[in-house]
Amino acid sequence: MTIRILPPNTVNRIAAGEVIERPASAVKELVENSIDAKSTRIEISLINAGKTLIKVEDNGSGMTKQELGLCVERHATSKLPDDDLLQVKYMGFRGEALPSIASVSRFAMTSRKHDSEQAWQINIEGGDFCNLVPAACKQGTSVEIRDLFYATPARLKLLRSDRTEIEKIKDIVMRLAMANPHIDFMLSCDGKILAKYQGNRQESGDSRLNRLGDILGKDFRANSLAIDYKRDEIKLSGFASLPTYNRGTSSEQYLFVNNRPVRDKLLLGTVKAAYQDFLERNRHPIVALFLDLPPEQVDVNVHPAKAEVRFRDTAIIRGMIISALKNSLASGGQRASSSISQVAGNLFRPQQFPSTQFSSPQFPSHNYNNVGEHNLPQNSFFDYAPPLARPLEQTNITNSPQPNYRLGAACGQLHNTYIVAQTGDGIILVDQHAAHERLVYEKMKTAIEKSGIARQKLLIPEIVELGEPYASHLLKRSCEFAELGLILDSFGEGTIAVREIPALLGKTDIAGLIRDLADDIEEFGESLALKEKLEHICGTIACHGSVRAGR
Ligand code: ADP
Ligand code: MG
Repeated sequence: MTIRILPPNTVNRIAAGEVIERPASAVKELVENSIDAKSTRIEISLINAGKTLIKVEDNGSGMTKQELGLCVERHATSKLPDDDLLQVKYMGFRGEALPSIASVSRFAMTSRKHDSEQAWQINIEGGDFCNLVPAACKQGTSVEIRDLFYATPARLKLLRSDRTEIEKIKDIVMRLAMANPHIDFMLSCDGKILAKYQGNRQESGDSRLNRLGDILGKDFRANSLAIDYKRDEIKLSGFASLPTYNRGTSSEQYLFVNNRPVRDKLLLGTVKAAYQDFLERNRHPIVALFLDLPPEQVDVNVHPAKAEVRFRDTAIIRGMIISALKNSLASGGQRASSSISQVAGNLFRPQQFPSTQFSSPQFPSHNYNNVGEHNLPQNSFFDYAPPLARPLEQTNITNSPQPNYRLGAACGQLHNTYIVAQTGDGIILVDQHAAHERLVYEKMKTAIEKSGIARQKLLIPEIVELGEPYASHLLKRSCEFAELGLILDSFGEGTIAVREIPALLGKTDIAGLIRDLADDIEEFGESLALKEKLEHICGTIACHGSVRAGR
């Protein structure tokens, strides 16, 4: 066995293994290059989900013949003028995308600099230089990647279905478009346009919100709160949805660090923590947050694809995101989302329904005032149904003076689940489980802050089988749980003995609680600060201890 330095082409293919995982990663690298070249229009065309052809054309700075020859060399970059990795100001800086792509595909790059008459084209096949010849091209650069991975068949085999690969490409383009509202983007596949975003050249908050609306839907525009927060040299801006405008997953939460789209578990945990007093626990807001900080406070050189970053001080960033979101929510979060109020409002308007539902002679509009007379059609969306409401008191409280409770005075219970209350000038409908959960949660929070929490010993410990690694992950945190009044012990491999529970809970499904906590830990384990974690756990515990429907 002889030690030797590998030839450049092999080195490039090894790098390609990290940087270029699939067509979407090639699109990302090329579009980022176009952004770095100050383009205002970027057009991406694919054939066969990018497997046969990826073409990216821009109207950016372009390159001279010499630059074109150099840019495909390994570690050739124009983006680190002072060799200072602490001052990364471009999307790129590693100088390895083009040589990596060119080593595993048939690669052609054509470019013309703005002050040059002549365009040039470089051709490379599987890493082997073919030629550098005069060509025709408008100002800017056009890159064509044919037969990606033809030179590395093992990687080719790993590609997924066309649909999946296209989704991944769309996701990349969408994220880069969110961060660059001044640039026109167009993405097409096999001649069909998949996305087209018109750039707004004026730098304003509006242009960012318009672009987010183009991508996330116009409802997002109407249902989001502006975030604008500054602490020392760190700035957080962007938009976050109203609590009433939410999703079942956290997939629509976007973070940009110095305008670079990043995926960060920190974001998921902090957004969850910021919204937890406003949103049901299994619902998620939509957010697009832009964090700007001096380049030396963040390391983007963590991963070849630069999808992750490390902050010099994570606690500060986390604190900022939570404060910024909480501030905005506190000042504007009570606004209900327009989509929900419109839908609800429409249900009350008879003219919105097909005439078979509400024919006007049978259902004249003035009858709305007479719901008590029971003359509504049976098929209406809302019907007057007095027998279902169980009055809490027999007295007619309509005329009694209203005590000044924020949730009004309760008048009845519907479906054994909702409490109807009346305030001085309105009606409030309370989900009793959610309300009780909140009360238990607030009590626990206050109790922990003051003096810890009262515990209740179980006569017979509850044994819960979780399996590994769930049980050991949960036990690792047993000190934190103890603070919350939950005493856990190991009971053999994968099994946990619960010895004491928070007294507040009363009778509860202990095994269900432990399983939910284990899920929480798996999902948010390292990403929540201790305090947020405690609050989140309080929420889970409170949920288990609260009044269910009918109780
Ligand atoms: P990096 O982006 O990290 O510098 P790349 O291999 O992606 O490395 O690109 C190498 C160099 O080629 C860039 O630094 C840039 O100078 C030049 N380049 C690449 N794409 C373009 C483009 N679309 N327009 C102008 N110059 C480009
Ligand atoms: Mg690059």
